[in-house]
Amino acid sequence: MMRVLFAAPDAMWPAWAPALRAACPEMDLRRDGPPESFDAIIYAPGGLDDFAPYVNARLVQSLWAGVERIVGNATLTQPLARMVDPGLRHGMAEYCTGWTMRAHLRMDDYAQDGIWRNAQTPPLAADRRVTVLGMGELGGAVAGMLSAIGFDVAGWSASGRGAEFAGAGGLPRALARAEVLICLLPDTPDTRNLLNADRLAMLPRGAWIINPGRGTLINDAALIAALDTGHVGHAVLDVFRTEPLPAAHPFWAHPCVTVTPHIAAETRPQTSAPVVAENLRRIMAGQGPLYLVDRGRGY
Ligand code: NAP
Repeated sequence: MMRVLFAAPDAMWPAWAPALRAACPEMDLRRDGPPESFDAIIYAPGGLDDFAPYVNARLVQSLWAGVERIVGNATLTQPLARMVDPGLRHGMAEYCTGWTMRAHLRMDDYAQDGIWRNAQTPPLAADRRVTVLGMGELGGAVAGMLSAIGFDVAGWSASGRGAEFAGAGGLPRALARAEVLICLLPDTPDTRNLLNADRLAMLPRGAWIINPGRGTLINDAALIAALDTGHVGHAVLDVFRTEPLPAAHPFWAHPCVTVTPHIAAETRPQTSAPVVAENLRRIMAGQGPLYLVDRGRGY
């Protein structure tokens, strides 16, 4: 029987333990024990800092899709897999579609104030250009759902994989077309402060930004300045440099910012426990785990 350490905050144990045990009955799941006795580690931020004693662990399986809090850990020599899960994909697609519809249909322009605002015919989705920065598991799912509705969607990625625009050279064109800009990039040295004042200026006037990727992508002060001038019409932000977002942060009070509390896509035990189980079975069978993180790239 494989021995697996659950290295995640205490509050996660009651929901995760039964789901993981049901998905993988051949696993002996524990919260502690002699480090050298474990075959694998299931990890979430806050669960473990020193991986060095786990000399026989053949896998560290993150329960989170974003791995920026573990990928640079110098004690981590074991293979690291990130979470790729159908529930995460669908949750993120629903979140981004919902907020895109708010932008697209100008829902905020209507109010119960007795004014009959029928001067403009709302455009159809086909008339609305959406750009998705980051066309990986989540960006790809978002682009797929928006395309199915009929939006004019284009993506941007580092390699051009799954995307119309690639790398630094493609970014200005990706931004210039973005009436709605959806950001699903990981937090890496290359993506930090990517959306600075110069890049925000490349967006068409009034663009909406939806960022459920990572808060480090956007220069907060530059975004507020762009919102103040109306160059950026609205920002829906789910992720922040400091979480929870401090009460004094200007995002909370800005009329053109919507703050959501990092809930865009949750890792749900019922959909992701089978993914964990598959990876554990793979390593026990001597196969390589799925969804390995490229430590050099940081995602
Ligand atoms: P993924 O499958 O690894 O995809 C990452 C995408 O970003 C790829 O298209 C990649 O391009 C692109 N990329 C990375 N660095 C880039 C750069 N410097 N320039 C251009 N493109 C770059 O990741 P995922 O599963 O879609 O997740 C994306 C992020 O969403 C996670 O890292 C996490 O931060 C965030 N997230 C947030 C929530 C939430 O609730 N708010 C939940 C889950 C995840 P290539 O394919 O060319 O490498």
